[in-house]
Amino acid sequence: MQEIDLEFIEVSRKIGTDPLFIQGAGGNTSCKVDANTMWVKASGKWLAQAGAEDVFVAVNWAQINRQIEAGFDDPVADATLAKDPRSLRPSIETTLHSLMPHKVVIHTHSVNTIAHAVQRNAEAELSVKLEGLAWAFVPYSKPGLPLTRLVSRVLKEKSVNILVIQNHGLVVGGATSQEALAVMREVEARLDVAARPMRKADAAQMEQICANSGYVVAGSDLIHQLALDPQSFEVARNGSLYPDHVVFLGKAIESVNDVAELAACCAAKSVDPLHPKAIALRSVGVVYDSTLSLGGIEMLKALANVARRIPAGSKIRFLDPEEERELVDWDAEKYRQALP
Ligand SMILES: [Zn+2]
Repeated sequence: MQEIDLEFIEVSRKIGTDPLFIQGAGGNTSCKVDANTMWVKASGKWLAQAGAEDVFVAVNWAQINRQIEAGFDDPVADATLAKDPRSLRPSIETTLHSLMPHKVVIHTHSVNTIAHAVQRNAEAELSVKLEGLAWAFVPYSKPGLPLTRLVSRVLKEKSVNILVIQNHGLVVGGATSQEALAVMREVEARLDVAARPMRKADAAQMEQICANSGYVVAGSDLIHQLALDPQSFEVARNGSLYPDHVVFLGKAIESVNDVAELAACCAAKSVDPLHPKAIALRSVGVVYDSTLSLGGIEMLKALANVARRIPAGSKIRFLDPEEERELVDWDAEKYRQALP
């Protein structure tokens, strides 16, 4: 089995450390090193750790593509090349990588891309901004098999090196790591949106309410923008924008208008995995469940970064209740979240 190349690892790490591209364990990269072997990020691993720990796992990508074609329910099953049962699992999104014909594939949860891809007129707007590039728009589908089938169809119709996935993110491919990176940078430059300026939070009035409530005041000014920036507040409370938000934070975020409502909301308990893990107090700041994982905190920052870039008055396509529910009743996701 051919080894993974160092340049690919370095490019992956670099992308993984930029929160505008990758947040927590989201996003992934892959490199096809021969006719069968593809190294792909393992489920639950952080791309930022590439090079520092084992983040990639080898799979037989030709076999995966054959199994997609043959209609397998789990086309990645049995395609992992390491036979050690304790070995890492390939990313839930492995098929996105195997289906792209390029040697190196980068899939990011790009903040600039998502800020476009959640708008109802995304495809029209992207057509203008990405004009001249070989790209395709993929309608939203749950990551895993349903998205795989859609991507497979799109790639048969059109030869592209860029996919924008509605309510999800960006996929780019290239013959080398540098080429894929250059394609990604080109898309980022074209979709770059200025974020609205940060406002200052007033955490003190929330501290007291949070004491012993099971909630903590967010320690990041960025997260507080979800309460302080009026447009972000409206976006965040009205629905869920993309899968990783739902998986890590429940649906949308809870919103309250005054401290009395905040206290009541902190006291309300729920075991529903869709119960929002963060509460925004309008114009004041954000509190979140004190058990929220590091990955969850990264997802709150990601949401703030996306919301600050969605223009006022935009019509948003939120995930519908069925789409939210199917994201939390999902074994593969439970595995990913259970990893440290
Ligand atoms: Zn993704």
